[in-house]
Amino acid sequence: MPPTMPLPGPGEQLAHLPAVDRLLNAPPLDALAQELGTAFVKRAAQAELAAAREAIKSGSAAPTFDALVAATATAARIFAAPRLTSVINLTGTVIHTNLGRALLADEAIDAVAAAMRQYVALEYDLAGAGRGDRDDIVEDLLRELTGAPAVTVVNNNAGAVVLALAALAARREVIVSRGELIEIGGAFRLPDIMEAAGCKLVEVGTTNRTHPRDYEDAITPKTALIVKAHWSNYAITGFTAAVDDQTLAAIAHRAGLPYMVDLGAGAVIDLSHYGLPREPLPQESLAAGADVVTFSGDKLLGGPQAGLIVGTPAAIAKIKKHPLKRALRCSKLTLAALEATLRIYASGHRLPERLPVLALLTRPAADIRAACEHVQAALAAFAGKDYAASIEACASQIGSGSLPVERLPSFAVVLTPAQAKGAGRAVERLAARLRELPTPVVGRIAGQRLWLDCRCLRSDDEAALLQQLAMAKPITDHRSPVTQC
Ligand SMILES: *Cc1c(COP(=O)(O)O)cnc(C)c1O
Repeated sequence: MPPTMPLPGPGEQLAHLPAVDRLLNAPPLDALAQELGTAFVKRAAQAELAAAREAIKSGSAAPTFDALVAATATAARIFAAPRLTSVINLTGTVIHTNLGRALLADEAIDAVAAAMRQYVALEYDLAGAGRGDRDDIVEDLLRELTGAPAVTVVNNNAGAVVLALAALAARREVIVSRGELIEIGGAFRLPDIMEAAGCKLVEVGTTNRTHPRDYEDAITPKTALIVKAHWSNYAITGFTAAVDDQTLAAIAHRAGLPYMVDLGAGAVIDLSHYGLPREPLPQESLAAGADVVTFSGDKLLGGPQAGLIVGTPAAIAKIKKHPLKRALRCSKLTLAALEATLRIYASGHRLPERLPVLALLTRPAADIRAACEHVQAALAAFAGKDYAASIEACASQIGSGSLPVERLPSFAVVLTPAQAKGAGRAVERLAARLRELPTPVVGRIAGQRLWLDCRCLRSDDEAALLQQLAMAKPITDHRSPVTQC
């Protein structure tokens, strides 16, 4: 811009901004509208013009026509892009609730796709050509795997707990140990869930110790249920006492009450066979006398989001009859994925190869280290000379509240700012740049370093990561060219 030319005033600049239609007729935006649909491009043009008007009013120069076209194209692509984007999970947490929990088995994915494309016998008894029950789809499998005489399924485990409480204990008292008044992330707090289900919570014992007589003394004519909630996301250690399933079931049954266990993570096989920490199984609680056990479909089971309810015929019949069951019922997509997942367990065949959650949890540390080596140089180049990239031992988490104190030995590419001064901000900046990649990469910051745990970097993710790192723009000195009139 020649320095002698005076800038026009804001009024004149506003009048010179193009109309939306003129902007949309610019050949690049016209072509983009063919690709994305006119609505996204128009919305972007309106937003960019509104932003330009605001900028001019507060004293900035008007953007050029070409700059407006470019900004509109960028904004239109953002409007048209899916919000539920794929990410590369290098947090080290395998069942990460905020990143969608379990990755599903190929069999489950195929079953969901088929159920979306075709009509399915969801509630249709093909033998009698009458109405069926959608729970039948998974009933035999779940009974076989857990040994439960009766089962039902809803949308998630929180729903399963609310439904079971409402069906078995509405307007009556439910006894729970003070050591189990759990909060699981995302607003699942047992006391609130009790209230939502219309139950009166009766707390017994203390935070660290609860004894059989605490439960016995709390039973009144208004008691409907005794509940045990599994400590999913914390541990109570030291001077502790809790009452086991067998004792609690006996106390409940002596008083003519049902006993319910909310297991949370709910593995249906003993994970210690695979060298993993042991997690309590629904079949064990049932064998110990529990009338109802609830657990999640998308935690250790490695299936879709679902709440699985297994128990005695009497308890399950009450639960299935409750109106909330209809409100919380699973879709055909959930049932398709759950059936396929349970069928893998039922087959007992090559589970770690077929169930991604099990594959990731049991991934050998040497294999994870090799994955780190494959991506270390590319990450170092992406980070630039202001960061050092090393491979270090670390500890992965199972996640989703499963086995909170257990850690799995793993390896990470660790990016460390070269300068100690401002390292906190430097590491945040680098983490943000990785999250801005076309397939965002999510790591973990600890000790002013960025840890990229490669446990969950599977070979296809690895290829995608290398490709996008290769294409990423090298960092410049932060000055961007200005295009203004
Ligand atoms: C995770 C969990 C829940 C909630 O299950 P969702 O599947 O997230 O609905 C309830 N209780 C326990 C003990 C849990 O660990």
